[in-house]
Amino acid sequence: MNFIVEGPRSKHGGDEPVSSIPPRFDGQQHTKQFWSRYLRVGILVFTFEAVATLAYLVLTPNAAHRTFLITFTSIIILCLLSNIPLTERVASAPWRTKYTFGWTLVAGLVLTLEIHLDGGLHSPLFVLLTLPIVSAALALEIRQVIVCGVATLGEFAYIWLNDPAAQRSSSEIAMFAMSLLGLVIIAVGVSTARSRLLDDEYHLRAELATLATTDALTGCLNHGAFYERLEVEIDRALRLDLPLSLLMIDIDYFKAFNDTFGHWAGDDALGAVGAILTKTSRSFDSVGRVGGDEFAVALPTATIAHAAQIAHRMREALSGDERPSVSVGYAALDPLRPSAEELVRDADRSLYEVKIESRGQQANQSPRTASPLDDT
Ligand code: GH3
Ligand code: MG
Repeated sequence: MNFIVEGPRSKHGGDEPVSSIPPRFDGQQHTKQFWSRYLRVGILVFTFEAVATLAYLVLTPNAAHRTFLITFTSIIILCLLSNIPLTERVASAPWRTKYTFGWTLVAGLVLTLEIHLDGGLHSPLFVLLTLPIVSAALALEIRQVIVCGVATLGEFAYIWLNDPAAQRSSSEIAMFAMSLLGLVIIAVGVSTARSRLLDDEYHLRAELATLATTDALTGCLNHGAFYERLEVEIDRALRLDLPLSLLMIDIDYFKAFNDTFGHWAGDDALGAVGAILTKTSRSFDSVGRVGGDEFAVALPTATIAHAAQIAHRMREALSGDERPSVSVGYAALDPLRPSAEELVRDADRSLYEVKIESRGQQANQSPRTASPLDDT
């Protein structure tokens, strides 16, 4: 007889359950927050730079190409401002890096055109050519930073070669070129260090989240994490009008087992119980160690009849001559009292009744081999 109760599966097929629970550390959300901040600050910096450029152009009305440059810069400011409402969407899109890379290259080209029309190497706008490299170093991939750096060096060469009045000495040109090259090298270094730090932070946070939710001895969810999941499962069951059951499992005479076989053997037994419960449960069940020798299993989609079958199956899996026996109580979520507290109370009461009953049956048996709850 197959006691496994199948829950609803994902429409994509495979083993992914419909009720998979989001992990405590959401890496995607973490990355999205970084991008959201980066894009907002980036747009503000570029807008500020464009407004400063506009102010400079307006304050020097007699210099070359003023009408075109003022109109062009105003359009750029409008384009930048129109990007602000898009930041959240771009931050969560998989193409956010490519999008930012494209805009960084465009920013370099726009600046090159403005510098060229404003007088070439003599233009004070020349210093702004460093901005795309700095911006790239803060978020883009190393290869993209190198491309931005090479593009900037090319733009510098274009401005220099097309300068209508290139009066700078070759040593000054070399100094500009070397400064830009130095900046490109620093940007690549910053980008490398940043991506390593972000990777480390991501893995550390993920590990921390796992450690914070896992019981070290058994590998099951710890007390806090289990009850947090139970709350999520109850919410889901109520929202989707699905059944939900809870098993409470307690090792029989575990104190005596410890006293007889030693604390290490007790630890091993706890680990084995945790492993068996995890192996026997379905992929979308949640197994937790909720007390010293007490475990709980949340069973989404399981009715009380399913819970009884699963309880029987688990007790069978946990029985063995070398292991202490266990008692298993169970309860289903009552829609009239839909709270974790009530569900746990019902399952605890069931466990207590099983214990009392098994005590009567075991009066003349060895505590280690007793197997209660034979009526399910
Ligand atoms: P019952 O059949 O009524 O459940 O009796 P019991 O002895 O199992 O229950 P009791 O609550 O009195 O004892 C639980 C024991 O679990 C007490 C403690 O020694 C043991 N225990 C709790 N945590 C650990 C642990 O991490 N490792 C080990 N080895 N034992 C533990
Ligand atoms: Mg016990």
